[in-house]
Amino acid sequence: MTSPRVEIDLTKIRANARFLVRRLCAGGLSVTGVTKAVCGNPDIAEAMLDGGVVGLADARINNIARMRKAGITCPISMIRAPLVDEMADVIWYCDTSYNTEMDTILQLGEAAKQQNTLHDVILMVEMGDMREGILPGNLINFATRVIATPGVALKGIAANFACMSNLAPMGGDMVRLSQLAVQVEGGCGDFVELVSGGGSANLPWALGENSFGRVNNLRLGEAILLGTDPVTGHPISGLHTDAFALFAEVIETKLKSSAIPTALIAPKHGILKLVQNDDLRIRTILAVGEQDTDTSGLTFPKEILFIGATSDHAVVDTTKSTVSVGSEMKMGMNYSALKQAMSAPDVVKIVHGKQEMNGSAKDCETQPYLTLV
Ligand SMILES: *Cc1c(COP(=O)(O)O)cnc(C)c1O
Repeated sequence: MTSPRVEIDLTKIRANARFLVRRLCAGGLSVTGVTKAVCGNPDIAEAMLDGGVVGLADARINNIARMRKAGITCPISMIRAPLVDEMADVIWYCDTSYNTEMDTILQLGEAAKQQNTLHDVILMVEMGDMREGILPGNLINFATRVIATPGVALKGIAANFACMSNLAPMGGDMVRLSQLAVQVEGGCGDFVELVSGGGSANLPWALGENSFGRVNNLRLGEAILLGTDPVTGHPISGLHTDAFALFAEVIETKLKSSAIPTALIAPKHGILKLVQNDDLRIRTILAVGEQDTDTSGLTFPKEILFIGATSDHAVVDTTKSTVSVGSEMKMGMNYSALKQAMSAPDVVKIVHGKQEMNGSAKDCETQPYLTLV
């Protein structure tokens, strides 16, 4: 089969979504599935929907257009602030967009009026990530202006964590977000329907023993796709961490001396590597490189050590295992490796488990029947 390729197990993505949706809905949190790391892949989006997410969100209009063109009709939010020349598309393809600038919202309102529709706006609040966000002290004033803008409706407020900074939110942050929702309602008189607390970095809080206050939604990407916590990179218990695998072909494998001093340094990352001081090691080259993925985010089979990579080659030490030219190696990916592989045009994407799609009845059939005895 062609390589490099990503193989995607939709049954695991569906199961991850379902696990999170069930756990969180018990406390009143809905889940929005974030598809930006997989470029809005429609099969993956459908798997998230099958798992019970209430809607989808993506940061790029092209990804959202791709999902719409594939026939996905659920609510979709634009989670990056819209660009000047994509206002009409955002109105056309999205029900909702996340915003932080009044100029943008005014243009969205104009575009919505032209399409005879009303566009929902969620205001992103700055709560410490220092990426996008309205300062909390300006929120009521800002919300008041949004409510007065024709063509748009204020749907909610949201916070974002652990994207720029690597800090997970604390319970206190969620209490503050809840209070802000109440303050906006007091200041503007409008009901704040959606209070979206953040992404996968919020899960330690959300799966813990906390009351959610007014927070009633999370936007989850990494946890559904990879089953990992973005702050620590650790697996989240109850989730599959192997829904995605990257395959690459072995194009060279040879005994080579490890005594060449430059081999001790990973050139791209400038990291000194400790290499065992044996005279001869087996070095293997895989036909995959930095153009295909973030090679530093790959995990290799046991006993195989990553040495380094260039644009088109990845070098691994296979002294402790047997590999042959023409065979394939299977690798795991972290979020960074996944998002690059999914957007690389030369990496083939193969989905498995699609036949179960839209089959909630089928899912039930796999449950054991209960019999009275
Ligand atoms: C990427 C993103 C998310 C999802 O983050 P994960 O860590 O993948 O769950 C949520 N909200 C916004 C605004 C994002 O940009």
